[in-house]
Amino acid sequence: MPPINLAIVGVGKIVRDQHLPSIARGSDFRLVATASRHGTVEGVDAYKTIDEMLEAADVAAVSLCMPPQYRYEAARKALSARKHVFLEKPPGATLSEVADLDAMARDKGVSLFASWHSRYAPAVESARSFLASTTVRSVEIIWKEDVRHWHPNQEWIWQAGGLGVFDPGINALSIMTHILPRPAFITASTLEFPENRDAPIAAELQLEDAEGRPIRAVFDWRQTGRQTWDILAETDAGQMVLSEGGSKLSVGGELRSVEPEQEYFSLYSRFAALIAAGRSDVDIAPLRHVADAFLLGKRKLVEPFHD
Ligand code: NAP
Repeated sequence: MPPINLAIVGVGKIVRDQHLPSIARGSDFRLVATASRHGTVEGVDAYKTIDEMLEAADVAAVSLCMPPQYRYEAARKALSARKHVFLEKPPGATLSEVADLDAMARDKGVSLFASWHSRYAPAVESARSFLASTTVRSVEIIWKEDVRHWHPNQEWIWQAGGLGVFDPGINALSIMTHILPRPAFITASTLEFPENRDAPIAAELQLEDAEGRPIRAVFDWRQTGRQTWDILAETDAGQMVLSEGGSKLSVGGELRSVEPEQEYFSLYSRFAALIAAGRSDVDIAPLRHVADAFLLGKRKLVEPFHD
């Protein structure tokens, strides 16, 4: 199969860190255009807007990598032009937007892929298989990182729709919804908002699975020193620790061997497979949990945050 001509919209941090090397490593896609107000990629045709790009470039697929508040409008334009669309996470700013895009992709006969990169972390599939083989009694999710290190001066992330600490927290929820054998539901949440920001800096969620087993999730952006991205499960076969954002797995204190790291390479392979099969993959479960956390959330004001 010849490579699929691809355009990237919103050339920023994640495009440079992950998309460009992963596209270059694979043979499924050829990057032929970008649409970005400031960002460009050497040797690739650059347009300022998606409208100009769709008008002039010969592309079959588009990756939308701008902040979530601006993804829907771009996605509608790309789908209207009958392009296959890869959505960075989170797939949109609201659930209704994503539902509309899903319907539109079906209507236009193209593939829509709501990507969740953390689900492709090295130890996630092993964790899922392990949990399917035993009984889960309780789960604790601890996602604590230093926002100043990981998101310096990213204004959009603090604005309404930018998700705040749920920007990394939704990665934990994307893993949780993939590895747990039963669906889970939020029963209570507390959100801590800096008094000068419109998005939370910390959140604590209580959930239960369909059999009433407890799940607790703590997300915090004020962690300096050691960073924590862990999911711990107490099971009938011992404690499972899925650590470092899904990179390492131990059961009963013993480290299990895992796949090599290739999250974004795997995402592009999946996107190509969806296009070849004429299918879409739009799982909104992680975003639905975030919406539920906001619906049930008790709001606490905390000290102002300055970068
Ligand atoms: P970013 O660098 O702040 O933004 C990406 C690009 O989007 C910017 O360089 C900018 O390019 C464009 N953009 C910014 N504001 C815009 C606006 N108002 N309208 C249209 N375009 C705008 O962010 P990022 O870290 O790459 O994250 C982008 C998405 O990827 C987010 O949804 C994030 O959750 C996800 N993600 C990020 C990471 C990470 O480690 N950073 C990891 C996984 C997923 P121009 O100024 O050139 O238009």
